[in-house]
Amino acid sequence: MMLNVEKALKHPGESLEFDILVPAPAEEFRKEQIRFDGDVALHGFMTGIGDSVALRGELTATLVSPCARCLEEARLDLKAPFDEIFVRLPDPDHPDAYLFEGSEVDLTDLTVANIAINLPMQFLCREDCKGLCPLCGQNLNLGSCGCDPALERSAFSALKALLHDKDDKEV
Ligand SMILES: [Zn+2]
Ligand SMILES: [Zn+2]
Repeated sequence: MMLNVEKALKHPGESLEFDILVPAPAEEFRKEQIRFDGDVALHGFMTGIGDSVALRGELTATLVSPCARCLEEARLDLKAPFDEIFVRLPDPDHPDAYLFEGSEVDLTDLTVANIAINLPMQFLCREDCKGLCPLCGQNLNLGSCGCDPALERSAFSALKALLHDKDDKEV
């Protein structure tokens, strides 16, 4: 998605508000099993600095991914601040700057990068998700399955032993 920054370039030093919707970069997050519910909204201010443009603000997106514990759908309303600069030529003073031509900047890379660095370690459907019973696979958020917790532990150790065994054989 391109953002027109002509006004910022014509009025350097002025903070000019902008609001723009960037199509969800779903392809970039496919391997993390993340989907997007709707577009990514960027709100902020653009400022012309000589021939460069600084963009500051916040992006919001709704991300959907399987819960790390129970595999049900987990939704996250992500808010991520951004503070980026766009330059016309590579600038050693701003190695992280994005390049642009003419009077429009491309927001795609900025959007992907600022979502990526703000992703949670894991998606949870809720803070206290109880996950799945390791014995019968029941979603424990929906109620207890009646499995014996002592048995669960031994089943888990047995599974671990099995996996170790497999590792040993592969080495
Ligand atoms: Zn869950
Ligand atoms: Zn169970």
